[in-house]
Amino acid sequence: MNDIYDIIKRYPWLPSLKEYYSEIALKDPAEFISEVFSEQFGNELKQRILELFNAAFDNLEEISEYKTDNLNIYTYLLLKFLLYALDNQMITNRLANLYSKITYNKLIKEKNHSTVYDICQNLGLRIRYYDPPIKYGKIIIKDQHQNLETNFMVHFIDYLKLASNLRDEYRKLVHNSLSDGYLFIQNKRLIRLLQEYVRSKLLIKETEDKASLNVFLEDILKIKEFKEIYDKILAVWTERKEEFEYIFKIDFENNEDIITLYPPCVKEILRKAQEGQNLIHNERLFIVWFLLALDYPVEKIVHVFSTLPDFDREKTFYQVNFAKNKHYTPYKCLTLKSLNLCMAVSYKDELCLTGYGAEELSERKKLAHPLAYTQIKQYRASKWKNYMKKESEKENE
Ligand code: SF4
Repeated sequence: MNDIYDIIKRYPWLPSLKEYYSEIALKDPAEFISEVFSEQFGNELKQRILELFNAAFDNLEEISEYKTDNLNIYTYLLLKFLLYALDNQMITNRLANLYSKITYNKLIKEKNHSTVYDICQNLGLRIRYYDPPIKYGKIIIKDQHQNLETNFMVHFIDYLKLASNLRDEYRKLVHNSLSDGYLFIQNKRLIRLLQEYVRSKLLIKETEDKASLNVFLEDILKIKEFKEIYDKILAVWTERKEEFEYIFKIDFENNEDIITLYPPCVKEILRKAQEGQNLIHNERLFIVWFLLALDYPVEKIVHVFSTLPDFDREKTFYQVNFAKNKHYTPYKCLTLKSLNLCMAVSYKDELCLTGYGAEELSERKKLAHPLAYTQIKQYRASKWKNYMKKESEKENE
């Protein structure tokens, strides 16, 4: 059994924080914030928080000097107050992704697996811990037999709760070994689920109750140090938000507004990636194959994934390059519909919904492939350009 105080200090998002640090939980936010900033470590805290936001804006996956000392609890709580005060989903997603990735890396580096077990218990998960790890199966990769082993089994209901936002095929119950209601889960996969839990703790939704937010801001922004941090983050955001919002709008060759040529199924995946949401396996495959089919450079495709919670640059680079060499064809519309990835209806897209090729609806051809969408849009755009050119030539004659 590990020292619970030590675990909370390193992982302050645990439910026991309230219990073991009840003196903090009982305080009014403004009182708590004034007190922490009046301490000697106030400046250090400010630096750490700004460093986290800057790293999130720069899309970093880790902070090399991230410290898990006593200030870690204050840092976590202040981040939550700041995210509520900033009330901006894009900033929140970026910060939540970074923080959860830092946590993932810390958990992976834990030498003692029992820490992960204690964390799961603290979260109220029904978990079984085996030390040494137990073997539960074999896989064969290129004629090589490999034993599957793990330190953990988790109750299937708790597993489903943890994995509810991750819809990848391999996470489905049917693809996992179960025994006695418990599922064998590899250490890395369990930690990935914990990462998702941490991310959800920071994913504070933009509030609809703006009146309460304003009352909170009026109170909290009287604290000089908090206001300085809040203003600095907003200043960086204002300066850089265009870069985040229009990241996919730059055509790598002609500087054209290329996103207008993309079908809704593609726009939706790019929107989710841009907001730092999870993408399921099929969404990832499709977007990679689609962008490769348009000769998008590998680095740019890797960049699309850089905002995702589980982004791993090296792995993504390898996978995109692999797909490039294989020349896969992107899914056609029928497949995308069966995968629930067609967005024609929600985007009310005329070309997707009514087809093309004739004025009369009954004579139009149905769109069969997202790449055809881009080709048709490109063709229409070039026709329009030519028409405008001729019109202006006529005017100049
Ligand atoms: S109709 Fe085809 S191109 Fe249009 S959104 Fe659906 S899947 Fe994509």
